[in-house]
Amino acid sequence: MLVTEGETLLKRPIVIVWTPKAWLATTAAIGAMVVMLLVLARTAMMVSAPFSDAVCGRIIVIDPGHGGDDCGARGRSGLTEKDVVLDIGRHLAGLFNRAAVYTVMTRDEDEDLAGDSGLGPMQRKRLDLESRVDLAARGGADLYISIHANSFPEPVWSGAQTFYHSRSEESRALAQAVQKELVARLGPNLRKAKPGDDYFVLRKSTMPAVIVEVGFLSNPREESLLAQPDYRRRVAEAIFHGTVSHLVESYRKRKGGEGQRAEPVSDSRADGVEQEGIEWALRSRVRAALNPAEDEVILYFAGPTNFDDDLMPEVRKVPGIASAATPEERASKVVAELLKGPAGGSVLCPTIPRGTRLRSIRMAGGVAYIDFSRELATSHWGGSRAEELTVYSIVNTLAEVAEVERVQILIEGAEPVTIAGHVVLDTPLEPNFDLVRFAK
Ligand SMILES: [Zn+2]
Repeated sequence: MLVTEGETLLKRPIVIVWTPKAWLATTAAIGAMVVMLLVLARTAMMVSAPFSDAVCGRIIVIDPGHGGDDCGARGRSGLTEKDVVLDIGRHLAGLFNRAAVYTVMTRDEDEDLAGDSGLGPMQRKRLDLESRVDLAARGGADLYISIHANSFPEPVWSGAQTFYHSRSEESRALAQAVQKELVARLGPNLRKAKPGDDYFVLRKSTMPAVIVEVGFLSNPREESLLAQPDYRRRVAEAIFHGTVSHLVESYRKRKGGEGQRAEPVSDSRADGVEQEGIEWALRSRVRAALNPAEDEVILYFAGPTNFDDDLMPEVRKVPGIASAATPEERASKVVAELLKGPAGGSVLCPTIPRGTRLRSIRMAGGVAYIDFSRELATSHWGGSRAEELTVYSIVNTLAEVAEVERVQILIEGAEPVTIAGHVVLDTPLEPNFDLVRFAK
């Protein structure tokens, strides 16, 4: 009896191997084995010597943006940037800790870093940002990863994006590695790593630093994704894998370069001059092509397309501009047009929140001190790129007034201020034509 059963059992597989169901099962089993082998091969790579030497024992600062009264951007469902980025930051810390990487969280609670300073909201934001950078510098960390969520008035804008300071080659490499993983793991996403030279934590950081904007809370699809714990975990994994692959790659390069003559270090000042040359050339091209008449001005608004968040010019007739008696009067007329937003029917997007008023403009030594009402900050939609576009739509537009070389933005008469907590306006800014799209 037992033998018979055994024979039956032995025969069964031979019979059912050729049924469609079994064929599928076999194919699936082989597929699973292949996947397992690939995973094992990858794991073997991950725990090889470069991984332990390049990654283990590093110190990484994880900086979840905003906190406390400062919610950052807010989605339509009420989901706040401060909560999303804290959760992603905690996941990220967990992943690093498992890889024997030490992590410093700038905050692990729903609070900012301004403490009981008793300051107003604007000064509080500045103290908060300074405290984050100081905390990182004190710990002697290797890398600084700031996590934010983006927002823009147009709900179509989407996609995670990483920013770096262009003076730091390692920051750029880290940003590109992180962006690559964000796209591969969370795509489709055409966004690329970009410089964000005016972002406070990037500008002030004493170590390689990136800001990861994990997606747009103003995009309904991404808001619902970011509301899901599993998706937030995947975002953390993407940042983790991007960082690890950067550390391993730069370790390999260092090892490969040992014994060879070091490449000449690029002179960042010389690079800056070249960049400035390109920017000013673009400005001349915009002026030459649009050729504004005496009673016309060039205004800068946000471009119409997703993935290409940039400024685009609009030429507008402004009655009385040619006969304005003073530079202040001319500048006031120009800003009044900027506050109106793009022309009716234009595909361009406004950059200044509704309800913002111009309080005053004062000129001194080529600097335009322009004072806006509080709505510029209190009604701002939040994201770092949106904030940068707001700032430079003002600066670039004002720089079209011949007497204006630099612009200091004030809010309710106070400086320094930040609009949404990413760009700090503690010094008069020159126009930035790197943000302008115009047949480059
Ligand atoms: Zn933010």
